[in-house]
Amino acid sequence: MASDDTVVVIVEDDPNISDLVELYLRRDGFRPYQADSGERALDVIRERDPSLILLDVGLGGELDGLDVCRRVRADSQVPIIFMTARDDEIDRVLGLELGADDYVTKPFSPRELVARVKAVLRRVEAPRRISPVTELSDRIVLDSARHEVTVDGAPVAFATREFDLLKYLADNRGIALSRRQLLDGVWGHDWVGDDRTVDVHVRQLRKKLGDDLDLVTVWGVGYRLD
Ligand code: CA
Repeated sequence: MASDDTVVVIVEDDPNISDLVELYLRRDGFRPYQADSGERALDVIRERDPSLILLDVGLGGELDGLDVCRRVRADSQVPIIFMTARDDEIDRVLGLELGADDYVTKPFSPRELVARVKAVLRRVEAPRRISPVTELSDRIVLDSARHEVTVDGAPVAFATREFDLLKYLADNRGIALSRRQLLDGVWGHDWVGDDRTVDVHVRQLRKKLGDDLDLVTVWGVGYRLD
């Protein structure tokens, strides 16, 4: 997956962090480039045409991470993972709906960050896997071709949105998704309901599938299917 061609741009004004992230990415076969300001980031991104961007929110110069994201998004869908330092930054990242693909909160483990990078790349590079069947646990199988979920081979009845939510979580396995992302992904951008809609449906999934479903509440964020 990660090959020598997989360019990742690290936008971070703290050299300790960017050096560490670069080290881990390099070790995993990526080709990382650093930019220590928003202005520099735009140049490096233009030059290197990365497969993914790691973007610090709080940058020292004129442009912060959100500005950079906005500029990049104006003409590119390259995956962006935000690196946030504080809760209010997370709120801004999520609130502005800038199209971030994921984010990590500092301090983060570089190993975890690299895992996220791979997960996001996997998701964008192979949006449609051949097999419609996903094993969610030893007992739970989701068959999107049959539009069916079985536990120990026995079908479980789901409302359409419940099924769609489970499928969306399964397609983004291992990635923490905000309620807003889930609403957009499952209910669509024009849906007017609020976050509780997601909570209600998650409760249904847990009720119907029980503890075998490894659906984690990520505090302050949303949900993640492991
Ligand atoms: Ca910073």
